[in-house]
Amino acid sequence: MEFKFLGGATEVGKLGMVYRDGPATLLFDYGLLPKDPPEFPLPAPPVDAVFVSHSHLDHIGMVPWICSRQDVDVIATPPTFEVGDLLLQDSIKIAGLEGYVSPYTDRELRHTRRFFRAVDHRDTLEIQGREVTLHPAGHIPGATMFEINGPKTVLFSGDLHTLTTDLVWGAQPVKCDVLVLESTYAGRNHPDREKSAFLFLKKIEDVRNRGGFVIVPAFAVGRTQDILLALLHKHFDVWLDGMGKSVNSIYSDHPEYLRGVKRLRQAMSRVQVVRNQRQRSQVLKADVVVCTSGMLDGGPVVQYLGAVRDDPRSAVLLTGYQVPGTQGRRLLDEGVISLNGQDVRPRFELQKFDFSAHAGHDELVRFIEGCDPETVVLMHGDNREALASAVEGRKFILPREGEWFSPG
Ligand SMILES: [Zn+2]
Repeated sequence: MEFKFLGGATEVGKLGMVYRDGPATLLFDYGLLPKDPPEFPLPAPPVDAVFVSHSHLDHIGMVPWICSRQDVDVIATPPTFEVGDLLLQDSIKIAGLEGYVSPYTDRELRHTRRFFRAVDHRDTLEIQGREVTLHPAGHIPGATMFEINGPKTVLFSGDLHTLTTDLVWGAQPVKCDVLVLESTYAGRNHPDREKSAFLFLKKIEDVRNRGGFVIVPAFAVGRTQDILLALLHKHFDVWLDGMGKSVNSIYSDHPEYLRGVKRLRQAMSRVQVVRNQRQRSQVLKADVVVCTSGMLDGGPVVQYLGAVRDDPRSAVLLTGYQVPGTQGRRLLDEGVISLNGQDVRPRFELQKFDFSAHAGHDELVRFIEGCDPETVVLMHGDNREALASAVEGRKFILPREGEWFSPG
């Protein structure tokens, strides 16, 4: 049994892992790093199937590229396909707007859809003599861990969260010999989730009381739903703008992938949805807008930022990780943002809240103990040593991209 990472071993982003054992060559995730311009993993070798853990672009973004070259089946859950498709279409559109070449065309994406094989959590399928079972990974609705049963049992985690949130149930450990584990938060723990949510709501209340407007930039997939659920029992006047609304409807069509569909539907019914440009001036008279993009790189958020840039009563509440090189990161680090091609130092309040959908360090350690593997392969992290050194009595492998290795 051998593995090779095509990307995303030593860093968060553009993940792809090849598994080779006997007659089976399987690819787990094949994503791109959605920067401007995006970064790609190494080209994939011929494979028997592609397994996609979830719909974020750093896991699914290169699937049309491989599918249009190899006509190979893609396996994922129904919400992963539906939301992933939306993001893939959007990434072609963004490439056009930003003026770089998308790694695949609309036509190739249409071709790729013919190879989508939707499989539900807890189901097992067989490919080249290997049985693969899908397990829930927490993280976002539809996110999956893959258990591969060959001579040894391997568990590929994808992105993982063990905490049960308002949106999804936390992942449970699966007994395995080799655990391929994401390590985004190796060496770091999250602040208490409920406390973060409490402080977030309190901040909105404060801003509203002082006559300001609150902008909540949020990723359309996962984070927007987390935020709407957090706002559910508060009587704020909330608008939703951007791709989050389409994602909401997809998720509410798949109740079995949610912790409580009723709650999500209720949260959706409490917000007003922006449908055209004219409504955006109306939005500014409300209390809160939840909008894309989560890292302030384009999307409706830009217009709202422009409207409140000189208003110290208003606030921008970031709700997710800001990748270096994005507008959101620049605003956090330097207090500067580019609006309409001009660098400005806005006067609104800026705060960041932790709603992470990844397991923190201690949760990763507990997850490893629960899976009880001989070997742990750490991926999807830039501080993997911190996790490897925190666990005793197991073999750790910290692979680099482009090298074949055997877990022993
Ligand atoms: Zn993810």
